[in-house]
Amino acid sequence: MTSGFGPTQYLLQSVKTGKEFIDKGWTLDAPNEEEPSLIRAVYEEVQLNLKDERLGLFKFSDWLPVGRLLKGSSSPVTYKSQGLAKYLGLEKLYITFSGYWPDKGAKMSTCSFKETEAYSVCGRMQADEQGVLVVASAGNTARAFARVCSDNNVKLLLCVPEDNLDALWFDEVINDNVKLVCTRAGSDYSDAIHLSEKICELPGFFAEGGARNVARRDGMGTTVLSAATFIGRIPDYYFQAVGSGTGAVAAWEANQRLMVDGRFGTHYMKLMVSQNIPFTPIFDAWKADSRNMLPYDEEEAHQQVAEINAKVLSNRKPPYPIYGGLYDALKDTDGDVLLATNEEAQNAADLFEEFEGCDIHPASGVATATLIKEVEKGTVHKDDVIMLNITGGGEKLFKKEKLVTALAPDHVFDVDPDINDVKKVLEGMF
Ligand SMILES: *Cc1c(COP(=O)(O)O)cnc(C)c1O
Repeated sequence: MTSGFGPTQYLLQSVKTGKEFIDKGWTLDAPNEEEPSLIRAVYEEVQLNLKDERLGLFKFSDWLPVGRLLKGSSSPVTYKSQGLAKYLGLEKLYITFSGYWPDKGAKMSTCSFKETEAYSVCGRMQADEQGVLVVASAGNTARAFARVCSDNNVKLLLCVPEDNLDALWFDEVINDNVKLVCTRAGSDYSDAIHLSEKICELPGFFAEGGARNVARRDGMGTTVLSAATFIGRIPDYYFQAVGSGTGAVAAWEANQRLMVDGRFGTHYMKLMVSQNIPFTPIFDAWKADSRNMLPYDEEEAHQQVAEINAKVLSNRKPPYPIYGGLYDALKDTDGDVLLATNEEAQNAADLFEEFEGCDIHPASGVATATLIKEVEKGTVHKDDVIMLNITGGGEKLFKKEKLVTALAPDHVFDVDPDINDVKKVLEGMF
């Protein structure tokens, strides 16, 4: 174990063409390529050397595209399940937990794995960046970025649907370098994304980039690095609930890096990703064996999103078709897309709390429910090495221990506001 931290050395690469190029600071796409493709970081260190635990998430910095170290981070924690494993008759069930569970060493105060991406993305930014980072979110991403940007003095503008404001709770003050705007009640995540895209056309604002940002993906990929380094090998199965599927793409990429590393096996883990019934666009495309998302009815999708408990899984335009995206990840790993109802997810979350001892996010309930169903179906076997990615948890525990207050919006916009009105509102905000 080495403890030093220095800027990580890496190149970027187009997944489609394999062409390598340098990171100009915030490169999100391959230059001069016709077909859209995700780009990847290619790290100088082909073997992962864990750094000092005290660096939190940055102990994985060999495989994070970061130039600087931020304070306050913590890393996902992996442990071997006893209770749930026994209940399900599994011998090698490993739980990777991102959230708040101090007994296990998990100390993410925003209670989800979105914190991994927020630290990684902000660690990719220059310390003297003058522009305002713009992030659209259904809740968890906004909470994570607000915390990280507030604590590390990064200018941030959040776009969140007004109906999701209850997700923006904090135990410590959010500084005024972080601003929050909403799309009014009745709107959803897609409207917030639309607003953020509009804002990013104004000078002084720039998009975080979502799945196209290598820092976002490699931040989330630390869940797999945590699992593989704890277990000593790449798992056989990976269970995660998905909205965008970015976490699963990140898991696949981390898997590939671990294969090159050589010490953790040279196999793929099967990606077993899950969605919350009735909102199932990724499932629908996958079952139709289609690289493209299927056409959908706007009104119907809106209704479905309103019905699911795991609102963080409500992405309508996931990076599924794009080269190097979720479709390719599922094909490459012989994975599958699974489903759970609200009720199944709730029951699974209750079981988790009973057998493991911590409350989990509804999305993690979805993932756990699908694991239970696959065990019942006999798809996974008792001696398979299974990674259950608990992407969020400990919120109940956190709120029991700490006093939390809500972040109030600085402005609420109508759906699809005029750009000049947006400009007027944002003028002088930062
Ligand atoms: C965002 C989120 C997900 C879905 O993650 P993606 O990989 O982006 O689809 C799952 N669980 C929780 C708790 C989340 O916040």
